[in-house]
Amino acid sequence: MLYVLYAFLILFGVALLLGVALFIASKVFEVKEDKRIKEVAKMLPNYNCGACGYAGCNEMAENLVSGAEKNVTKCKPGKKDKNYDPILAYLASHPNPEFEEEGDGKK
Ligand code: SF4
Repeated sequence: MLYVLYAFLILFGVALLLGVALFIASKVFEVKEDKRIKEVAKMLPNYNCGACGYAGCNEMAENLVSGAEKNVTKCKPGKKDKNYDPILAYLASHPNPEFEEEGDGKK
């Protein structure tokens, strides 16, 4: 009967060690993503049609946020008042990722 208890304790200890190791690894290797990408992606039509020349709306958002893509009208299904203007206004008011961390986008 004692063997069962030892086996349980050993398994519990190994599981605990692996859990702690995974937690530490998730913190050490965490990839921080610019929150603006998600916000801009939400403002795109999200058809993921590829008409803009990118693989999908998220890739278009990444390029808009990084500044690699300046022409928001490349999103063909987008509308000026519903998509283009809000995205341009958002990018103008959120010029860098640090701004998001300090004030969460609100002044
Ligand atoms: S054209 Fe617009 S809707 Fe289509 S994938 Fe590009 S950003 Fe998304």
